[in-house]
Amino acid sequence: MEKIRMKTPLVEMDGDEMTRIIWQGIKDILLKPYIDLKCEYYDLGLPNRNDTDDAVTVDAANAIKKYGVGVKCATITPNAARMTEYNLKSMWKSPNGTIRAMLDGTVFRAPIIVPGVKPRVSGWKQPIIIARHAYGDIYKNTELKVSAGDSASLTVTAADGTTRTALIHEFSGDGVIMGMHNTDASISSFARSCFNYALDCKKDLWFSAKDTISKTYDHRFKDIFQEIFDAEYKDAFEKAGIEYFYTLIDDAVARIIRSEGGMIWACKNYDGDVMSDMIATAFGSLAMMSSVLVSPDGKYEYEAAHGTVTRHYYKHLKGEETSTNSIATIYAWTGALNKRGEMDNIPELCAFAKKLEAATIKTIENGIMTKELYLLSDAQDKRSVNTMQFLQEVNNTLQTLL
Ligand code: NAP
Ligand code: MG
Repeated sequence: MEKIRMKTPLVEMDGDEMTRIIWQGIKDILLKPYIDLKCEYYDLGLPNRNDTDDAVTVDAANAIKKYGVGVKCATITPNAARMTEYNLKSMWKSPNGTIRAMLDGTVFRAPIIVPGVKPRVSGWKQPIIIARHAYGDIYKNTELKVSAGDSASLTVTAADGTTRTALIHEFSGDGVIMGMHNTDASISSFARSCFNYALDCKKDLWFSAKDTISKTYDHRFKDIFQEIFDAEYKDAFEKAGIEYFYTLIDDAVARIIRSEGGMIWACKNYDGDVMSDMIATAFGSLAMMSSVLVSPDGKYEYEAAHGTVTRHYYKHLKGEETSTNSIATIYAWTGALNKRGEMDNIPELCAFAKKLEAATIKTIENGIMTKELYLLSDAQDKRSVNTMQFLQEVNNTLQTLL
């Protein structure tokens, strides 16, 4: 078979620990034999971030802006223990945070459903995709403890020095207060990313908040979504045969549980944090959650939702066998290659990406899986394999499909 040619480079961001090993395995076993891989490589592994004073992360984000599509391996976000372990010059920031801030994106997380691993909600047939706003609210809040007799109020000082004040509460006993914010610009970016993504994958979009209680704050989110939808997306949604609607968060929760899945659920920052963990767990395993960052101007960065699987890596270093699930990382590659194929009009590349996904799922259907799925699966003839054996098995299945 002749290798598939690419036109524009894919921005490849290598990472750390167990996922770095899987990364190389995916390229060697599942990609390079079939594709003339054209990648612009950025080593976001912690040693190289340290050597470059983290400039490599900024360079990678700029490359995504330039070429439009990136694929990222999981990376370590350093803490105090990592400072010693890697002898770091500084406690470098989370690469995901840096890239997200530069692309101004929204994160979409979707569970990968496999036969034999049933969702804990029996009615769910299709993935539920969570779109989480990644800026502001309680993640950038200011809080204080207050005492009996205190009076708390919000004060806004305008550019000309004039002030507006609103009473929060007059405390007869001790208590707590909190101030938080968001910006129209960030909410608008979030809305556009959601609308673009819904059009891209042709799924209905729900947005939920609590505007009945938060009549100014949450209402602003609802209004911005509606204004942008009406002005920019209404016709495109009609043409694509999909719908957008807003509903209260409590109503959304009830409807999601009763649904068959298959929609995109846009959530404010805190709601998205909580609901994405709930959705991932209810569909099976953290290792089966794919993730893509979409910017309002249509740039894409694909990755797995899980981390670098440190515990497995330390076993690997000791020469012990590991059984680490590579599915979410395979899907990061297929998502990115498919998007590159769409943008550059290379149907063979899109078809290959779809076949590789199908081969991954079929391998599970054939009863071959890594350990944590083996424990969840109710397949009759199942066996668990090690990290690299799984990739070989996917390749065997792939060859029957090509
Ligand atoms: P983690 O790497 O997601 O792993 C947590 C646990 O979940 C693992 O120990 C393992 O459980 C299970 N698990 C996760 N992925 C798995 C897979 N592919 N196959 C099988 N089991 C899997 O989270 P963490 O241990 O909290 O974080 C490790 C490092 O990753 C940290 O340095 C953190 O900064 C980084 N991180 C990076 C990203 C990112 O780049 N997007 C995201 C999160 C965390 P068992 O040990 O029980 O088998
Ligand atoms: Mg969380």
